[in-house]
Amino acid sequence: MAKWQVQVDREACIGTGMCASSAAAYFRLENGRATAAQDFIEPDDLVVDAAESCPMEAILVRDGDGAVIAPEV
Ligand code: SF4
Repeated sequence: MAKWQVQVDREACIGTGMCASSAAAYFRLENGRATAAQDFIEPDDLVVDAAESCPMEAILVRDGDGAVIAPEV
């Protein structure tokens, strides 16, 4: 299965830590803002949930074709 791309907009992130808590394998806080632990991951709904839960919609998840999976617009 094609890998997903995970990006965090560090300008938009307000450092709630929610993503790093709920999906610790994929996000960590650096200097008070989240960053993706890996840019490309095996598909995992945890990152979709994290993207949907982020209050700033700072997390972007794309599929192998570059289509946005989350957050939903
Ligand atoms: S949930 Fe969103 S705002 Fe909170 S730390 Fe993660 S990316 Fe930043």
